[in-house]
Parts: sequence; structure tokens; C-alpha cells
Amino acid sequence: MNSLRTVKGMHDILPKEMPKWHFLEETFRELVDRFGYQEIRTPAVEPLELFVRGIGEVTDIVEKEMYAFEDKGGARLALRPEGTASAIRSYIQHNIGGQQPISKFYYVGPMFRRERPAKGRYRQFYQAGAELIGVEEPTADAEIIDMAVQFVEALGIENVRVQINSLGDQETRPLFRDALVEYFAGDLDKLCPDCRRRLQTNPLRVLDCKVRDCVETAAGAPSVLDYLTGEAAGHFNELKRLLDENGTPYQVAPKMVRGLDYYTRTIFEIQGESDTLGSQATIVGGGRYDNLVKDLGGKQTPTIGFAFGIERLLLMLGPGASVAVRPTIYVAGIGDGGLDRAITLARTLRKAGNKIEVSYREGSLRSQLKRADRYGAIIAIIAGEDEAARGNVTWRNMKDGSQEEVSLSDLDERLEAHK
Ligand code: AMP
Repeated sequence: MNSLRTVKGMHDILPKEMPKWHFLEETFRELVDRFGYQEIRTPAVEPLELFVRGIGEVTDIVEKEMYAFEDKGGARLALRPEGTASAIRSYIQHNIGGQQPISKFYYVGPMFRRERPAKGRYRQFYQAGAELIGVEEPTADAEIIDMAVQFVEALGIENVRVQINSLGDQETRPLFRDALVEYFAGDLDKLCPDCRRRLQTNPLRVLDCKVRDCVETAAGAPSVLDYLTGEAAGHFNELKRLLDENGTPYQVAPKMVRGLDYYTRTIFEIQGESDTLGSQATIVGGGRYDNLVKDLGGKQTPTIGFAFGIERLLLMLGPGASVAVRPTIYVAGIGDGGLDRAITLARTLRKAGNKIEVSYREGSLRSQLKRADRYGAIIAIIAGEDEAARGNVTWRNMKDGSQEEVSLSDLDERLEAHK
């Protein structure tokens, strides 16, 4: 029989990789907690309609990459390709805005996109993100960007660039669309077949295309910033002022659009230098989606957020970035009744908050010390028959092999230093 393996583009994350994951997730949780964001967990499976309406029908994610299926009852479902649409669905479904006019969520979880697998691009990957719902003012945009930058800094990633742009509001969109259609009309033959189609359905997407000819053709395209209404331009200027005030360095990237349709006004990316991911890598992406709550059936509610891919960030972390692993203490039982003594002692010490490994079967001292070594134990506590009769155990330093007999009643105090 063939051995079963993970699905193409999906990966096991093995125990030895976890200290880095925990470091990243704990850094994120600790930071967003300081800003008052609370965790929300939504299902990995949602109605297909959520993403069609939320992300947009003419986006690569919905058109090409989504795992959409009918279940056995005929319901049309999808594995979530991103976290925002689900968070907003949940916000509307539970009328959270009714109780908390300003809601601040964060999430961490697996997302699914059927993309061509490559380094840093998977079909199941993890994203974490934050959403600030219910604030219209640019102070929200500045806080979200500041929080994202502080997160990247807290991970020890240096040389990052913050790029911002504004896609304007509902009045901007049709004007800018027309300008793009007009600009590309003379160069249709230079665009890829996808972009020729996109120009009819969603011209903004052409600016996002990675095909070289399309990138070159788009180089002289009009800038959305020339089509902002006075109000959108004012919002953008105020955001820039707030970022200056915070000392957050940024660049305006007038050609930047992002791959999802729901963005309005501010969008931003944090890019880093990465050897593993090519010279430029987008680490964090986000922006405003002021119409998303309404588009998904709620009231008009301004919202801004960001998301980042955990695997891609992990590829950029240095070797030192990892949570400290607690030291292991090994308990060995020797002689008559040794196994029972060891198990009872291990149980007591674990209850007292120590990280203990203990043998599951009888064994010689030599074989148990070998096992202790394999676990990476720094101390072995040997519960031998003779010491037990005196109410003692042997305390062995696994690094240098030195040992001494100590009273059982002193163990708590000695172990305190190794918790
Ligand atoms: P997006 O939701 O497309 O704006 O992507 C946000 C972030 O998620 C990106 O900057 C990546 O770090 C990450 N990401 C998106 N797609 C993938 C993928 N297929 N595999 C791994 N990470 C991804």
C-alpha cells in the first residue's frame, strides 16, 4: 500500500519548529493585547458566498485559488482563503457593534489558497491579523500601521519599508477605472489574456498583475492619487501627518493596489529584504474596507486592518528568534520498587510546576541516564533504594556528571531555579 502523505502545498509543522512559531505568535498576542485587541476564532469553512461578496468575484483568490465545494447536503462552501471576511461576518452575525461600537479583533489561523506551491507560498498557510472596526478617522489608520510596524520590530526584523497609498472612496473608483481603461486601450495587445479580460471587469487588477509585459505596460498608468475626492485626500494627508508625528517612516506608493477588492481609502504594505523570498518581500498587508460590513449585510461601518503570513515571516527571522525552552529534569528510579518511586516523585514534581521526564519501564541506571541525555535533561534525580530509606534522592548534574545526596524536602527549593 502507498504510504499516505500530506496534500501538495500543505505541510506538517513539526515539534522542533514550534519554538519559533510560539515566539512569533506570543510576540503578536502580547503586542496586540497592549493595544486592546481581543482574539476572535471563526470556522475554517464558510459559505462560499461570503468570499464571493467579500473579496470580490474578479480576484485571483476567488476566481482561481479558492477551495470551493459542495458538501453532501448540497451546501456551497469554501475553505477560508483569508481572515477578514470571516471576522466581519462574525461581527455582523453576533451584533457585536451593538454592544461595542468600536471593536478590535485579532485572529491567528490556517488559510487555504490553491496557488502554485513555491518557497513561502503554500496551499495551507497561517495568517494572523487585526481588525479595528467602527472608526472613520485617520487616527485608526495610524494606529493600525504603527502596531504592524512595532510587531515587525519586536521580531527583530530590520530594514523594512512601509508603503502607503489611498484608493479613494466610492466616487474615486469609477473615475479611476475609466482613466485606466482609457490608458490601456491603446496597448491591449501588450497585456496578458487575463489582464485583457480584467480590463473589462476590474481594471484595477491590471496594476496588480505580475506578468512582465503587464508590469511594463502599467508603468506609465495614471495614479489613483490624482482622482481622490477632497475628503479622501484630506484623510490621506492627515494619516501622513500622524505617521510623521509618530516617527513612523513610510513611502507613498501611488501604483500600489492590493489583491482584494474590498479595500477603500488607505492601503499599506510592510516590505522587508529577504534572501529566501527574493529581494523584496511583502511581510504585512492591510488597509481600509469601509464598505465591507455593509456589503456583507451589516450597517455602514468603517473598518481597517492588516494580515501577515506566518510562514513567510518565519523565513525572515534570525536563528536567535525563538521562545526559551524550559529545561527538562529527569527522574530515574533504581532498585526494588524503583519504577513506582520514580513515577510517584515525577507526579509530585510535575504538580509543583516542574518539567519532568520519567521512565515508563524498569531500567538500569546506565540506560536511564542515557535516556535523560536524549531528552536533553539538565538534572537527573535518582530515586534509589538506599537513599529512599534515608528520605533522600541523588541529585546529578547532567552536564558535568557531579552528584550529591539531597533530602527530598529540599527538592522544591533546588528545582525553583530550573522552572
Ligand atoms: P493577502 O491576504 O493576499 O493580502 O496576503 C497577506 C499575507 O499572507 C502575504 O503578505 C503573505 O505573507 C501571506 N500569504 C498570502 N498567500 C500565501 C500563500 N499562498 N502561502 C503563504 N503565505 C501567503
